[in-house]
Amino acid sequence: MLNYRDGLALMPHYDTSEQDWHIKVNANESNIGLPPLVEERVMTRLSRVAFSRYPNEEYDLLCEQIGEAYGYRKENVIIGNGSSEIIEKVFYAFGGDDRHKIVYPTPSFSMYGIYAAVADASAVPVLLNEDYTLDVETFIQTVNQSDASLAVICNPNNPTGQVLTMEDIECIAENISCAFLIDEAYIEFYGNTALPLLKKYPHIMIARTFSKAYALASCRVGYMLAHRDAIAMVEKTYMPYHINVPSLVTADTVFQMRSEFEPQIQMICAERERMQEKYRQLHSVTVYPSHANFILIHYPHADALNKAFIKHGIGVRSFGKTTQLENMLRVSIGRPEENDAVYRVMKSFVEEHP
Ligand SMILES: *Cc1c(COP(=O)(O)O)cnc(C)c1O
Repeated sequence: MLNYRDGLALMPHYDTSEQDWHIKVNANESNIGLPPLVEERVMTRLSRVAFSRYPNEEYDLLCEQIGEAYGYRKENVIIGNGSSEIIEKVFYAFGGDDRHKIVYPTPSFSMYGIYAAVADASAVPVLLNEDYTLDVETFIQTVNQSDASLAVICNPNNPTGQVLTMEDIECIAENISCAFLIDEAYIEFYGNTALPLLKKYPHIMIARTFSKAYALASCRVGYMLAHRDAIAMVEKTYMPYHINVPSLVTADTVFQMRSEFEPQIQMICAERERMQEKYRQLHSVTVYPSHANFILIHYPHADALNKAFIKHGIGVRSFGKTTQLENMLRVSIGRPEENDAVYRVMKSFVEEHP
């Protein structure tokens, strides 16, 4: 028997295997891709990469650029292989043993529980209300009563699409003293970032990604803005050269040209509103109001509906028997004709199974 570390065999496995979908709306990616102008510029820059060299100044340049855009210095920015890696490192930095408690709402990003386990921290999930809103008072109380080292919220929340207002977030920041990580993976589809609170509340950390609104899931790039002391500590959890140059250069170009993405972000938000309205008309379908690039729906025969989607080559995210997400499907917003195709399958299924 090979002698693996304790707990490893019990770690859950996050299944990322994929079918070749005709329409892929299961991972909240962009189905539009890079604007042609951006892609052209990316290709030019990639053609000049010194592939035989270890990364050099590319990391600092991107940190500097991101920091500057929001009124911060490069010391306030960390870049990771997707923001999920940064979140994992933050959990690691504030974990270590079961006296280090990490509080986060549930249902939310399923990885939070896994990161807490990997970090040997003690996970303290706070149940969302029946309608998936967060009871801010309960959250604050749980953080303080458990003497947590880290509190996490996802805004807008994945997979529910719900949001906390700036007042809610400030109320949390004001009433807890531990590190407070805000996962803003979908913020571009909502608009109300908590970033302005960072100046006033130095225990806030804001994680963002290039994978969703910026159509760069393949490159695995995310970043976090926080107080320079917190960044310096989280940086200690990273090995040198942890991001590769092709990804850094690509993200750098995308960030420079981020205004080129505005039309598609607006289109996705408009499609989200249009589709929510259409889904709402369907019998037995419950739609949860979303501020992200996906819609969560409840349907009593979700499993059978999911099978119908699969039959049509459409991949949506089904939560199976996950507690609190029973009979829920999460459908990412794609291109208008894709959204229409998804709707047609759903409509005919629902009409056949009243
Ligand atoms: C997609 C997502 C992320 C980030 O994904 P990366 O590709 O690792 O940057 C982070 N948090 C949530 C809730 C997400 O849905």
